[in-house]
Amino acid sequence: MRTLLTLFAALCLSACATAASPPRSEPVDLLIRSATVVDVASGAVTPGQTIVLRGEDIVAVVPDAGAGRFRAARTHDAAGRFVMPGLWDMHVHFGGGEALIEENGELFPLYVANGVVAVRDAAGDLSQQVLDWRDAPPTPDGPRLFTSGPKIEGIDPVWKGVIETGSEADVDAALDRLQALQVDFIKITDNTLKPELFLYAVREAKTRGIRTSAHIPMSLTVLEAAEAGLSSIEHLDYAMKAGSRDEAAIAADYLAGRYTYAQTMARYADSFDPETARRVYRRLAELGVAVTPTLYGSTVLTYLDRDDHSHDPELAYVGPGIRATYDWRVQRAAQATPGMVAARHHVEEVTSRTLPMLRDAGVTILAGTDAGFLNSFNYPGFSLHQELALYVQLRLTPREALAASVIAGPRFLGQGDRYGAVAAGKAADLLILDANPLEDIAATRAISTVVLRGRLLDRAALDAMLADIRARAAAREAAVAQAASR
Ligand SMILES: [Zn+2]
Repeated sequence: MRTLLTLFAALCLSACATAASPPRSEPVDLLIRSATVVDVASGAVTPGQTIVLRGEDIVAVVPDAGAGRFRAARTHDAAGRFVMPGLWDMHVHFGGGEALIEENGELFPLYVANGVVAVRDAAGDLSQQVLDWRDAPPTPDGPRLFTSGPKIEGIDPVWKGVIETGSEADVDAALDRLQALQVDFIKITDNTLKPELFLYAVREAKTRGIRTSAHIPMSLTVLEAAEAGLSSIEHLDYAMKAGSRDEAAIAADYLAGRYTYAQTMARYADSFDPETARRVYRRLAELGVAVTPTLYGSTVLTYLDRDDHSHDPELAYVGPGIRATYDWRVQRAAQATPGMVAARHHVEEVTSRTLPMLRDAGVTILAGTDAGFLNSFNYPGFSLHQELALYVQLRLTPREALAASVIAGPRFLGQGDRYGAVAAGKAADLLILDANPLEDIAATRAISTVVLRGRLLDRAALDAMLADIRARAAAREAAVAQAASR
């Protein structure tokens, strides 16, 4: 009888675990206990939660009292802390030439140390390298990478490493090539691209089911590009242009050579009409066209006369090669007369005002910075926090600013099922913060711990990563100085 009972008990342990109590504990990798979970979609904040991680997944989020059924290899105490999804930067660049491949690779942990777990690369001159990095990152401490691959341009543009197209057949071949590369979206810019080919590329990409992101040719209205099926507009100045009551006429004057580019932007700003803007923005919302403001990038360049950024502590994280790529835009800005500087300030102010109007019209905003080479003092990782702070200064709520990064970002790239919330089934890419980011957006900088693909990087680990990046940049700097003194 005793053996029968023992046998029954043993069978029951394996087969009747749910029916009999107590149940067996479930093995998992990590419990983040006593967390206050921030739901960016709703703005709800729930204290006393345990987040249960296995591998690269969140398998459950339960009240602390209910966490006993999980047996974890490791437990992390998040008492008094706020947990939200890791940040996405939807507009970054890698590039500056083959000689800077290593320096670009060293920027990867800079994103993660700042809580950025995914980035959307919007093309540069190292496309093949970036595609290789997407599959085999230069470091395990890097963000998840999405990339456009080489962008589509016209013939002989100012940009390097693009696919040049001068005919519809060229565009077809470009799309074939980009599809073969399995790019995550397509970037189209307008330096020498004919406007009719721009529209053709947007339409064809849409037919093929590929998302597009673009700089819109001056000779097209923003709505013409949107109606063709564009998925995202890069940079907020297009929103300003779209709100001009004379958008097409001003473009015609520019194309006829009657005004410079800067004068043309000033004319758009002067003719900005809120009623026109609201009408166009509502249509953009209907069409599902997103806007990536990259406000931090334009703010830095606009106000170089007030802050030359020569004392930025973040400079210590950037190698001398990438820093040298900053010079192009700095020198261009230095040539401006006081009148030109004042005009640039005015254009930026009008441009900034469009952000809350886009929000009010229901346009999807994608948080993106333009960080990387060429864009002066736009430091990877750091600048996303500045970008989000600018959104709040411009009257987005902190929740809306966060959603532009952690919800709209993944959704744009077809990753909405996997990212955007601290919930079962989502990716274990998290930020553990010392303060509530829904109350003060600056809390995104108070990073206690980053969880990257299930791996816990606590403050000490993040500080060690930052020190390592500084040391590498300093060593490169010393090598350059030594070479120069020979
Ligand atoms: Zn860019």
